[in-house]
Amino acid sequence: MPETKRVYLFGNGSAEGNANMKDILGGKGANLAEMNLIGVPVPPGFTITADTCNEYTREGEAKTRERLEDEVKKAVQYVENLMGTSFGSNENPLLLSVRSGSRASMPGMMDTILNLGMNDNAVQGIIARTQNPRFAWDSYRRFVQMYGDVVLGLKPASKEERDPFEIIIEEMKTEKGVEDDLELSADDLKELVRRFKKAVKDSTGHDFPDDPWEQLWGSIFAVFDSWGNDRAVYYRQLNDIPDDWGTAVNVQAMVFGNMGESSATGVAFTRDAGTGENLFNGEYLINAQGEDVVAGIRTPQQITKIGSQRWAKLTNISEEDRAANYPSLEETMPAAYKELFDIQEKLEAHTKDMQDVEFTIQDGKLWMLQTRNGKRTGFAMVKVAMDMVREGLIDEKTALLRMEPNKLNELLHPVFTPKGLAGAKEITKGLPASPGAATGQIVFLAEDAEKWAAEGKKVVLCRVETSPEDLRGMTVANGILTAKGGMTSHAAVVARGMGKCCVSGAGNVNIDYKNRVMNVDGKEYKEGDWISLNGSTGQVLEGAIDTQDPELSGDFAQIMELAEKYTRMYVRTNADNPKDASIARNFGAKGIGLCRTEHMFFEEDKIIPMREMILAKNEEGRRKALEKLLPLQKKDFKGIFEAMDGYPVTVRLLDPPLHEFVPHDEKGQMEMARVMDISYSDIHERVESLMESNPMLGLRGCRLGNLYPEITEMQTRAIIEAALELKREGIKAIPEIMVPLTGIVYEFQAQKEIIEKTIQQVFSENSDSIEYKIGTMIEIPRAALTAHKIAKEADFFSFGTNDLTQMTFGYSRDDVAKFLPLYIDKGILKQDPFAVLDQNGVGQLVSMAVQNGRAVKPSLKCGICGEHGGEPSSVKFCHRVGLNYVSCSPFRVPIARLAAAQAAIE
Ligand code: PEP
Ligand code: MG
Repeated sequence: MPETKRVYLFGNGSAEGNANMKDILGGKGANLAEMNLIGVPVPPGFTITADTCNEYTREGEAKTRERLEDEVKKAVQYVENLMGTSFGSNENPLLLSVRSGSRASMPGMMDTILNLGMNDNAVQGIIARTQNPRFAWDSYRRFVQMYGDVVLGLKPASKEERDPFEIIIEEMKTEKGVEDDLELSADDLKELVRRFKKAVKDSTGHDFPDDPWEQLWGSIFAVFDSWGNDRAVYYRQLNDIPDDWGTAVNVQAMVFGNMGESSATGVAFTRDAGTGENLFNGEYLINAQGEDVVAGIRTPQQITKIGSQRWAKLTNISEEDRAANYPSLEETMPAAYKELFDIQEKLEAHTKDMQDVEFTIQDGKLWMLQTRNGKRTGFAMVKVAMDMVREGLIDEKTALLRMEPNKLNELLHPVFTPKGLAGAKEITKGLPASPGAATGQIVFLAEDAEKWAAEGKKVVLCRVETSPEDLRGMTVANGILTAKGGMTSHAAVVARGMGKCCVSGAGNVNIDYKNRVMNVDGKEYKEGDWISLNGSTGQVLEGAIDTQDPELSGDFAQIMELAEKYTRMYVRTNADNPKDASIARNFGAKGIGLCRTEHMFFEEDKIIPMREMILAKNEEGRRKALEKLLPLQKKDFKGIFEAMDGYPVTVRLLDPPLHEFVPHDEKGQMEMARVMDISYSDIHERVESLMESNPMLGLRGCRLGNLYPEITEMQTRAIIEAALELKREGIKAIPEIMVPLTGIVYEFQAQKEIIEKTIQQVFSENSDSIEYKIGTMIEIPRAALTAHKIAKEADFFSFGTNDLTQMTFGYSRDDVAKFLPLYIDKGILKQDPFAVLDQNGVGQLVSMAVQNGRAVKPSLKCGICGEHGGEPSSVKFCHRVGLNYVSCSPFRVPIARLAAAQAAIE
C-alpha cells in the first residue's frame, strides 16, 4: 500500500499540487501550487495536508511528528536548495513563514509565524547578506514576539490587559526618549530581543528555542491548534464550515518587504470589491512587512495612480501633497508595478474570477504570496459576474452560480451610508428578521406610531411583540424592533411582506409600556430617542444614521433575465394588498401564492362588521354582518386581481382564531355593545368564550369555515364576483381558492362543496363564468400523510411550512425564540427550522405528499407558501422534490428566482 502523502512541494515553476486540490491543500496551498504552474513568481515552499491536521487532533503531536518527520526534512532541503540558503546558517540563513489555510477562506481566524529560523547565528547571516543590521535585528525581535505569542502563549489574559511584548517595547521607547518604533536603533532592537527572551523564560520556565527545527515543529503544531481556537470555531459555526475539514499548513521561504526603500508589501484586488468596477486597485507600504498594511499603524498608499488620485480627492489632499508624500506604487516602483499589473491580469484570466492577492517586493523583485477569490458586496457580485459574461470570461450559467442569492438583499433595501455607520454604537442585537436599514424615533404603541408619522416624524416601533392590531402602526414605521418572537413571528412575517426593516427577538430589550421607556443592559431609552436598526445583521444602533436608496442597475435586471432563462420553477409572492402585489410583480413574481385574507379585516371599514359577525349570537346575526363585509372584501380582491392581471392569485379563506379580531379592552367592548345594541356583559361573555389555551391548535383554519359555512360562502362570493366584474372591464383574474389547515380529507370536501355551490350560483346570477381552482394548504402532518386521498379532491397543494414545521417539531411558532438560541448554541439544532426548511424531517413530509398526491393526480400543482419559500437552500430543495413554484414575500422574490435558477443548473 502506498504511504499517505502528507507534504506537497512547490517552487521555481513546478508544483506537486494544483488549484483543484483545495480539499487536500486548503485554498492557499492549492493556489500557491497553481501560481507556480502558470509561471507566477512565488517563494518556494511546501504544504502539509489538511488531513494531517485531523490526524494531529485525533492522535496528538508525537505520532504526527513521527509520520511527518522524513517528508518535512526533505521539503526543507528542497527549499534550501532552491534558495541557496541553509537553516540556521550564519552566512546565508533560510528564514521561513508558516501559515494556515483551510478549504474555505477564514480570514484572520488562525495563526501565522513569520521570520522562523532566526537565532543568534542566523541574525549574523542576515546582517552579512543585507548589510542592514537594523533590519536583521528588527526581523529577529518580530519573530521572538510572534513565536512567543502564538506558540508559547505569552499574550494578554483579557481584553483589559496589555500585550506583554508591547509593554517591553513601550519601556524601551521611554528609556530612549523616542515615540516611534522606527526610531529604535539596531542596538535597541538587539536589546529588545534579549528582554523578550527573558520574558519568555520568566513566564514559561524554559529558554526560548534557538534550534530552527524546534521552532518549525512548534509552529506547525501551533497552526494546527489554531484550527480549534475560539475565533475559528465561532467563524465556522457562522459560516457552516464543517469542523472536520482541518487546516493545511503552508511553509514558505521568507521574502522581505522591509529590507529598505526598494522593498514593499501590499494587497490588491483585480476589480473593486465594493462597487465591482473593473479597476485594479489596492494598497501598499514601502519598507514594511505584511501585517503593517492591515495593522493601521502607518497609512497605506494606493497601488495605482488613478486610485491614489481618487483617494487624495476623498481625503482632501492636494495633488502636490499626494505626489510628494503618498505616491502610488505605479509612480515609486514602475517596473515592479508593471509586473504586478500583468500578473493580476494573468491570474484573473486563469481563475476567471476577481482575485484578492498579496505580494511583497524584496529589493525590487516581486513575489506573489497569495491569490484567492475576493470577497465582495452584493453590488460587486452582480456587476463583476455580468461584466465577465460580456467579456467572454465566463458563461451565463457560471454567472448565475457565482451569485449568493441572499446578497441580493443589499441591492433591494435602503442601506446605511458608510459614513454614518463609521461612528455607530451598537446597543444590542436581535434576529435579522427583515433586511434593510431603518432610523427613527422610538415609539412603543402602534397608535403613537401613526400619530407621530402623521406629523411627519420618522419612527421605529418597539414592541415586546406585535399582533395584527399593530398593523397600521407597523405600516407607517420605518422599522420594527421586538423583544420577543422568532423569524416567523408576526412582526417578522409582516415586516418581510412589507419589505420593512425588522429586528425581532432582541432578548435584552425590556420594554415598560406604561412609562414609555425601554431598558437595554442597564441603559434607558425613552420614547422619542433616536435609534437605528440593521435588519440584515440584527444590530440595534444608537442615534440616527443616514440611509440611502438602493439603485437597481441594469446588471441586476440582466442577472434576473438569466435566472428566468434557466429556471424550471417559477416564483409567486405572498401579498394581501395591491401595493405589495405590484412590487412583487416588478421583481418578477408570476402570481400570488398566498393572499392572507385576515389582514384585510383589520382596516378601519372592516373591523367593526367583522367583530359584529364574530360576536353575533346566531347564524342570522352573522349573515347580516357578512352582508356588510361582502362589498368591502370584493373591493379588496378587485384591487389585488387587478395588480396581478393575467396571473393566478391564490386566496386563502379565513385562517386565524376569531379571538384575534375582537376587542379585549373595556372601551372596545363597550363600543361593540353600542354598535350591536346588546349589553356589555353579553359582549364580554362572548369574548371570554372565544379564549383558548392553545389558539394555534384550536378553532382556526377550515374548522372555522366548517362550523360557520356562511363565512366561506361570503368570501367565495366576494372572490368570484370581483373576478367577473373585472372580466367585464377587460382584466383577467384567475382565482385559486385555498382552504387552510386541512387535516382530514372530509374537512376539505365539505368546504369544497360550499365553495363549488357558491361559485355556480354566482355564475348563474351573472350568466358568465371564469376559470378557477380549488385547492388546499398542506400544513398539518396528517394532511401530508394522507395526501393521496386529499389529492383526489384538490386541484392544488400549497405547503404551509410555517405550521407544518410547528406541528412536526412540536415547537410553538410564537414561543420558539425562548429556547431556540440556546438550542443553537448547544449545537442541538444547527439552524432555525422556521427560517431554513428542515429537509430531513419536514422536507420528507413535503416530498412524500408531492409523490403520493401526484400518484393519484399527475397534474396536481404543488407550491410552497411558508416563509421557507424565500430561503435559498429551501428553494433548492423545493426544486429537487418537484414543486411547480415557490411563493415568498415581495422583497425575497428576486432571491428565490435566483436560487431556483441555480437549482436547475446545479
Ligand atoms: C404556513 O403555515 O406556512 C402559512 C403560510 O400560513 P400562516 O403563516 O399564515 O399560518
Ligand atoms: Mg399556516
